[in-house]
Amino acid sequence: MFETRLNRVREAMETAEVDALLLSVGPDLPWMIGYEAMALERLTMLVVTRRDQPKLVIPSFEVPRVVERPDVFTVQGWGETEDPVELVAAELEGLGASGTVAIGDHTWSRFLVALQHRMPGHDWVSSGTVVGDLRAVKEPHELDRLAAAAAGVDRVAAALQGGDIALIGRTEADVSAELGRRILAEGHAAVNFAIVAAGENASSPHHHPGDRVIKAGEVVLCDFGGTTAEPHGEPGYCSDITRCVYTGEPPAEFREQFDALFESQRLAVEAATEGSAAQSVDAVARGHLADAGLDQWFLHRLGHGIGVEAHEDPYLVEGNDAPLAAGNVFSIEPGFYIAGKWGARIEDIVACTTDGPRPLNQADHNLAIVEA
Ligand code: ZN
Ligand code: ZN
Ligand code: ZN
Repeated sequence: MFETRLNRVREAMETAEVDALLLSVGPDLPWMIGYEAMALERLTMLVVTRRDQPKLVIPSFEVPRVVERPDVFTVQGWGETEDPVELVAAELEGLGASGTVAIGDHTWSRFLVALQHRMPGHDWVSSGTVVGDLRAVKEPHELDRLAAAAAGVDRVAAALQGGDIALIGRTEADVSAELGRRILAEGHAAVNFAIVAAGENASSPHHHPGDRVIKAGEVVLCDFGGTTAEPHGEPGYCSDITRCVYTGEPPAEFREQFDALFESQRLAVEAATEGSAAQSVDAVARGHLADAGLDQWFLHRLGHGIGVEAHEDPYLVEGNDAPLAAGNVFSIEPGFYIAGKWGARIEDIVACTTDGPRPLNQADHNLAIVEA
């Protein structure tokens, strides 16, 4: 798997006329070699050129963390008194005094600044130039893992909708912590977020759950996801789902607005076909909400790609006219957020396939009424 990826990366480097690729902290590195760098001040960096075998430059005492894949890369540990930037630069000496180097988006700027100082004649571009399109089109086994991740959070959503997770009288933070525990129990290694927003707090799309106590007779918006645990140091894949429940019977006004949202989300999923422009799917959802007078309250883009990273290419947003490709996996998450009053969102992860859009999340999309 990693060998195939390396070959595809090299082809992409050729096409993009990139001479070297440098990957440090962030998701590109585990995607490429199944090792995630520690986000610390000691440099870990994979050096990929078009010819030589990639080399992972890493603090010596972190070498035991690496699952070695000698067919894909070699490992070079550096001691506490060595300068790792010098080691990376030495690996790139073969390029000469100029060339184009792509560097991981999440790399600490202190290392980029030091490398630029050491290699003043080179051009620097983002790693997305090389790996962006590759990561955005999922391989079949990546689709399986994303589907398994989605099934895990679907079961948590079902528990929420079925009233197995008590709401009334608990704080948002407490419910958020329970969602987190359940996400981990469903085969995830990490919880990326567990938004719980009650009543007026649901009008803030990225609300931070706090000590607000959930009452009877209000909406509770829950948006949660994590990263799966995978064997052999292989990278985990992300889940992301939003469902809303109401603690009691909702007022007719909310019910009508939610119905429009439900339909907007359903129509957008249907529209996410191979070859459709990413922005056209956003427009479908937004147009339906406009018919219900809610578009002014739809405050964010329709969706984001998902994979080893919770948010990645492709983005479903006005201005992105790139066609969706089979293998793209992304969220479809329209919402409405009426400041100080209430809000709602419905989010699924959807795979674009040659047979049409395939929603990976199956949890009930309706507004669940919970009484406890
Ligand atoms: Zn978000
Ligand atoms: Zn979400
Ligand atoms: Zn999302």
